[in-house]
Amino acid sequence: MKNLIKKNIPKSLLIFIQNLLLFWRLLNYKKPKFFCTVCEKNTYGYLTGFFPKLTITCSNCLSESKQRLISQYLKKYNFKDKSILHFAPENCMIEFINKNKIYNEYILADINPTKEIKKVDITNIEFQNNTFDLIICSHVLEHVNEKKAIKELKRIIKINGSILLLFPLIDSWDKTYRNDNIKSNYDRERHFLQHDHLQLFGREIEKELSDDNFSLKKITPFGKECVKYGINQGESLFVLEKNK
Ligand SMILES: [Zn+2]
Repeated sequence: MKNLIKKNIPKSLLIFIQNLLLFWRLLNYKKPKFFCTVCEKNTYGYLTGFFPKLTITCSNCLSESKQRLISQYLKKYNFKDKSILHFAPENCMIEFINKNKIYNEYILADINPTKEIKKVDITNIEFQNNTFDLIICSHVLEHVNEKKAIKELKRIIKINGSILLLFPLIDSWDKTYRNDNIKSNYDRERHFLQHDHLQLFGREIEKELSDDNFSLKKITPFGKECVKYGINQGESLFVLEKNK
């Protein structure tokens, strides 16, 4: 039936109807319920993001899937006397971490500083070797020269310290996609998913992260856990631990 309709109506009308259906679906979208581990409330999500790639945002604390994933890990983390460096910090996560005032030091960092956020270039970090127990770096590596950034993060983390990393990953790609011919925002969005991404990671990034001095853990919530906590299916948190 569907195919019969598709065959017999003019293409322009078909495209119009398909667009109308997309709009109708958006209007009738049922907000998903989940437990947000950032604000620790049962909540409803709403859609935000760079259309057409959308994400579910908590209507209470405005956290997205990636922040809920980090907060799940941090709920079990012992903050006592720890020094923390947080790149591109989100308000909901700052609030979450500040509930744990037992930390020693908490530095907010970004290439674009504000009154509270210190200017730090992740590819050329001013801090000494072995300074931090915990580094949070969510959705930064795809915006920078990640080889330089990873080298710097590994340098400033203490032995037994942990670096939490999230980034877009195409799990079915072996290699990371780079392309020097891609220069415009329009093309970067088409090739790397967002106008300000410089590359799109394949599984190669996992080899790039782990070496003799570091072990890499990959945490990927499965099945109903994603629904319960409002986490994107297949999204992973990488934890890089310095052994020596
Ligand atoms: Zn929330």
